[in-house]
Amino acid sequence: MTKQYDVVVIGSGPAGYVAAIRCAQLGFKTACVEKWLNKENKTVYGGTCLNVGCIPSKALLDSSHKFVEAQSHFSAHGISLGKVAMDVPAMVGRKDKVVDQLTQGIKGLFAANKVDGIAGSAKVVASDRVVVSGQDGVQEELLAKHIIIAAGSVPIDIPPTPIDQETIVDSTGALDFQAVPKRLGVIGAGVIGLELGSVWARLGAKVTVLEALDDFLPAVDRQLAKEAMKIFNKQGLELKMGARVTGSTLSKAGGKSVTVKYTDQEGEQKQTFDKLIVAVGRRPFTESVLDASVGVELDERGFIKVNEQCATNIAGVYAVGDVVRGPMLAHKGMEEGVMVAERLAGKKTQVNYALVPSVIYTHPEIAWVGKNEEQLKAEGVAFNVGTFPFAASGRALAANDTDGLVKLLADAKTDRILGCHIIGASAADLLQQVVIAMEFSASAEDIGLTMFAHPALSEAVHEAALAANGHAIHIGNRKRRT
Ligand code: NAD
Repeated sequence: MTKQYDVVVIGSGPAGYVAAIRCAQLGFKTACVEKWLNKENKTVYGGTCLNVGCIPSKALLDSSHKFVEAQSHFSAHGISLGKVAMDVPAMVGRKDKVVDQLTQGIKGLFAANKVDGIAGSAKVVASDRVVVSGQDGVQEELLAKHIIIAAGSVPIDIPPTPIDQETIVDSTGALDFQAVPKRLGVIGAGVIGLELGSVWARLGAKVTVLEALDDFLPAVDRQLAKEAMKIFNKQGLELKMGARVTGSTLSKAGGKSVTVKYTDQEGEQKQTFDKLIVAVGRRPFTESVLDASVGVELDERGFIKVNEQCATNIAGVYAVGDVVRGPMLAHKGMEEGVMVAERLAGKKTQVNYALVPSVIYTHPEIAWVGKNEEQLKAEGVAFNVGTFPFAASGRALAANDTDGLVKLLADAKTDRILGCHIIGASAADLLQQVVIAMEFSASAEDIGLTMFAHPALSEAVHEAALAANGHAIHIGNRKRRT
């Protein structure tokens, strides 16, 4: 049987479900096809972010942070507890409940907005036609005026460490350990490696991160990356830079441990772990989504080629989120989903790709937007730097959480804010006020002239902005760079 729609969205991750809801809100008859099955073999919406990404990792990060607070920091507040223990299956069970609540929530949003959720694996077979294969092997055809591909991404496997989801796991397996591994290896000091490494290190694992690159967090402002390295080392994360993994051997006794071979400056090394997380990046998932006859172009890395408005080379076919160029971030995909929906309705919506915030949800968090010092220097832009350490924030001291700093970069001639880089508690939320300011082309002085509630962590942003113009009240530091 053939069903007819105005819009068919493939994938219900953040890019896809948001695109589908916005399309339906704008009056399009919309379907969203999803193939994701949960542990009970039931179709669930939400894609990687809700099922095995952003949300479950944050649930574990929050649980493990509370554990560290209770174990190591409550005493500073005069709170004494007996022996603090973590029930790992209970922690993982709570994470599963959070995931379940949110994926069910999308089902509810689809119903409220009259989006048809369709279970199965979708393939674009023509610019106006999608074939959906159900779990039972039954196929149905959907006719669509417009198709939005939001099929997401999958973890990259590397031949030296084949995933078995027992001893060698990817980011999905690392969310479901039922006990704290004594020795945990992590390959890749990227966002996933640091977040998941932090979870298990907080609970007592001896964590070693093997990173092929010599530079730590190359996309992050150097001053913040250095500060982050210091803090993570203090927290007990062992970060081995310039360590390229070349092989692995599971132990003979039931594969309960793995010995990893890697090369570093000193030559070939070996280290044995009880669990190994492979977090070396993700790749776009496009292989079974597009029939080659449709003619949608991919780039050399397998991303679907799109223009600034997420249109592919084939009229009527769009692609958003992790399957297209740009950072693999849920919020970037969501905004692309909204943009495509609104453009289909004749609006002129455009994502501002210059202002995509990035966050690493370690403790402290690392968050940034716009340009960093190194980029501005390379571009020959003259700029002022205002910094403010949380150690000088009354609110951070009161909370006993003083690691980190705010760094704000402003154009030396116009004072327009060019970037903001924060490492500290609640950095993601603090950064957002600067993202808004930058969206309105604000100057550092605009933030300086704004009244901030006292005492609050956000005052550190105020002080960094004042510091950029050389008149911080409390400590802030200004440098001029040309
Ligand atoms: P990543 O690209 O951030 O980091 C992977 C790291 O692995 C790199 O530093 C790379 O040099 C290293 N590496 C690659 N091969 C190696 C080898 N053989 N030996 C040692 N090191 C090696 O990738 P990720 O952390 O897997 O994350 C994947 C994607 O998911 C990213 O695009 C990220 O933005 C996204 N993500 C975002 C968040 C967030 O926003 N908080 C959280 C999780 C994931």
